[in-house]
Amino acid sequence: MRIDVITIFPGYLAPLREALLGRAIAAGLVDLDVHDLRDWTHDVHQAVDDAPYGGGPGMVMRPQVWGEALDAVLARDARTPRIVVPTPAGRPFTQATAQEWAGAERLLFACGRYEGIDQRVVDDARGRGLPVDEVSIGDYVLVGGEAAVLVMVEAVVRLLPGVLGNPASAEQDSFSDGLLEGPAYTRPETWRGLAVPEVLRSGNHAAIARWRRDRALERTAQRRPDLLAALPERALDKADRAF
Ligand code: SAM
Repeated sequence: MRIDVITIFPGYLAPLREALLGRAIAAGLVDLDVHDLRDWTHDVHQAVDDAPYGGGPGMVMRPQVWGEALDAVLARDARTPRIVVPTPAGRPFTQATAQEWAGAERLLFACGRYEGIDQRVVDDARGRGLPVDEVSIGDYVLVGGEAAVLVMVEAVVRLLPGVLGNPASAEQDSFSDGLLEGPAYTRPETWRGLAVPEVLRSGNHAAIARWRRDRALERTAQRRPDLLAALPERALDKADRAF
């Protein structure tokens, strides 16, 4: 997968080269290219923003600079990317979005700052038939799109084949079956007077699977009843329906 990121703070994306993602890049599973938006400015101040039409506080990112930057970065690879524009006004980014994007050959992230990017940049790209996703990582407002890109890239890249040591761990994670994952334990058997649940030490695989499923259902019902309510009836077995 090729990932391009356009930002006015290229250094902000440095953590993408750490740990699991860094290893994925070193292994050639991900080709990451971070671009400085100011490379496409033409004035001495390298301005990327201007006052908003209609007045109001803050500044808006200029369409000319973004247009040139996108055209140039798009041309660096023959594959058409899915263009991702982080914005609090976007559709929510979820595990399903991460799974969908993990199947893409190329992703291009456009990091906004200030009051965001002039809307015509998205409209123009869509008008040219390019797939553009405006997405939000949550109902809160960040200073810029970079932190959102760190979150989204990490969620996508860990799903790529060969990135996780054990691919089964992604399959069992929260959200993959529509539920939150239940609690996990490791040695010692007892710590500060707290014992690991007996069933997990029983060696009875069917009982362990049932216990894990019950704890996942219980936790989801307590913490995210919206997820449980959204599960289709066919996703629940007879024992599940007690929750
Ligand atoms: N005026 C915008 C609004 O109210 O929708 C907020 C702009 S915010 C200060 C600046 C940039 O941060 C946005 O263009 C976007 O790139 C990023 N951003 C902020 N919150 C975000 C969120 N929840 N999800 C994704 N990106 C976000």
